[in-house]
Amino acid sequence: MAKKQNPDQRAKELHDLIGNKVAQNFVTIAVLNTESEMVLVGTNERKLRKEQVEALKEHEKEAQSKEEKHAEEKVIQKAQEMGLKGTEIGTSRPICLDCEDLIKAHDITSKTAFKGKKSKKRQ
Ligand SMILES: [Zn+2]
Repeated sequence: MAKKQNPDQRAKELHDLIGNKVAQNFVTIAVLNTESEMVLVGTNERKLRKEQVEALKEHEKEAQSKEEKHAEEKVIQKAQEMGLKGTEIGTSRPICLDCEDLIKAHDITSKTAFKGKKSKKRQ
């Protein structure tokens, strides 16, 4: 059985793989551990970058969405679609207020700091 990593640490690891330093500043990576073996990984970009996809382990699955969403929303939505219960989420950046509400509504824990503010990028 694959040992589950601290999702916080894993999100930062995947974030650091981004080769483009400018891009690093606007990308957020979220990693959601679930009650199953499966770990979901999401980005606020349209999809994970090639260097990140290549680094995914067997039990890690990308959570994609057709709509523009925060990384946290994508992994939680994907878990629901797959009928998985999320247990702990970690992100590579502090979590905005909307995502904090969503995480708490799903009874998911997090060691990542909450911003306590709404994202500036949306109304
Ligand atoms: Zn958010």
